[in-house]
Amino acid sequence: MSAMTQYDLHTHSTASDGSLTPTQLVARASEQGVTHLALTDHDGTEGLDEASTAAEQYGITLIPGVEVSVSWHGATVHIVGLQLDQQNQALQSGLGALRDYRRERARKIADKLEKAGIPGALEGAAQYASETMLGRLHFARFLVEKGHARDMKDVFNRFLVKNKPGYVSGDWATLEQAVTWIREAGGQAVIAHPARYKMTNSKRRRLVAEFKSLGGEAIEVSSGNQHPEEVRVMAKLAEEFELLASCGSDFHSPDNNWIELGKMTTMPPFVTPVWTQWQ
Ligand SMILES: [Zn+2]
Ligand SMILES: [Zn+2]
Repeated sequence: MSAMTQYDLHTHSTASDGSLTPTQLVARASEQGVTHLALTDHDGTEGLDEASTAAEQYGITLIPGVEVSVSWHGATVHIVGLQLDQQNQALQSGLGALRDYRRERARKIADKLEKAGIPGALEGAAQYASETMLGRLHFARFLVEKGHARDMKDVFNRFLVKNKPGYVSGDWATLEQAVTWIREAGGQAVIAHPARYKMTNSKRRRLVAEFKSLGGEAIEVSSGNQHPEEVRVMAKLAEEFELLASCGSDFHSPDNNWIELGKMTTMPPFVTPVWTQWQ
C-alpha cells in the first residue's frame, strides 16, 4: 500500500471571507482526504495559529499561507504565498497596510453611493462581512436587497464600476511588493487562479513574465471546479515560463456545491509541483 497524499494549497476561513473557522476547515479537509492543506486568507494570517493546532489534532500538514491583493495595469490580481514565516515584519506591515486600505476603500464607496442618493451603504454592506473584509460584492448584495438593482449583474452594469456611482479604483499592493513580502518571509509566491482574470491572453502572458522576473515561483495550474482543458493550458504556461505548478480549491464555504476541499482536476505529469521544493 502506498501512502496517498492530497494537496489543497488555496483555502479560506473566517479569518477572511470564508464561512468555516480554521478548526472547522481543517476538520473538513481531513474528512475529504486532504493530507496537506494551505490556509491562504485574504491579506491576513490571523487564522494560521488556530489552523496549525487543529492540523496537529487531525494529523494533517498545515502549510502557512496568505492571498495578497494586487493591482496590476488596471486589473486586480491575487498572489498566494506558501510556506511563509507569519512572524516576518515586512510581510505583516504590508498586509496591515492592505487591510487599512480595504477599510478606507469601503468608506469611499459608501460616500460615493451616498452622493448618488443611496444612504446607509456602509452599514448595509457590513451585514454581510466583518469591517476588515468589506468588498464590492457586499455592497452589491446591499444594492440588490434595497431594490436599487435587480441582481448582481445589474449592479455591475450600473454601479461600482468605472464612471458609475460607487466606483473606487483599485489601489492594492503592486506585483513587486506582493512577491517581495512573500519572499522576505521565506515563502513561495504563486499566481492564484490565472485563468479567472478577465484579460487577454497576451496580457496574461505579460503578467506571468513580469511575475517570474520579480522572483515569483509558481502558478496555480489547477483551481477548484476548473475545466480539464483550461488546466492543460495553464500547465503549458507553467512549463513555458519554467514555473512550478500549484493546485488549490479556493474553497470558501460548504454552500458552494461546485467547490470542495481537495477536489481538483489532476495536474498533467509534465509540470513540476510546487511541493517538490519542500523537504
Ligand atoms: Zn483569489
Ligand atoms: Zn482565494
